[in-house]
Amino acid sequence: MNDRAVFLEKDGTLVEEGRAGCDPAKLRLLPGASAGLARLRAAGFRLFIVSHQPGVARGKFREADLTLVVRRLEELLAPADAAFEGFYYCPHQPGARVRAYAVECLCRKPSPGLIEDACREHDLDPLRSWMIGDVLDDVEAGRRAGCRTVMIDNGHETAWRGGPNRAPHLTAPDLAKAADMILRNPS
Ligand SMILES: [Zn+2]
Repeated sequence: MNDRAVFLEKDGTLVEEGRAGCDPAKLRLLPGASAGLARLRAAGFRLFIVSHQPGVARGKFREADLTLVVRRLEELLAPADAAFEGFYYCPHQPGARVRAYAVECLCRKPSPGLIEDACREHDLDPLRSWMIGDVLDDVEAGRRAGCRTVMIDNGHETAWRGGPNRAPHLTAPDLAKAADMILRNPS
């Protein structure tokens, strides 16, 4: 079984940030996203989304609503040969409005819990896999899981808090370029 994966943040990396919330009709793939993912998949990488969805803890939408988002993403990506195999998310946010989700957890990035869950459930080797995201918490989660990392530098990171696991291996302007860089990198 192929054990190499690319893990992706959703909002701001794969789809336009902010506008959708949890409305599947407003989901828009970022330019180059499906083409880049199709190249990775053709090269043998299995694709997984690992995403923080604090809208659940903030009471903006329910966990069940996310299934519609996942279905819409499948509709957008599968025809482009960029199908993903799993959608892992963290619904938590300490201090948020919905008590049940306002907790410290092991899955909210920069913790590596979502990536570790995906690796365990799909027999993936994090050391042979990559994490792509648009903020340094994505980079830290990827590094702590043992992955190499690509930071999409598109202005979404604003704090630039440093730390031992927060330097990306590679930096790219978008997902298409990130895919090119990963495919040029020796495994
Ligand atoms: Zn969580």
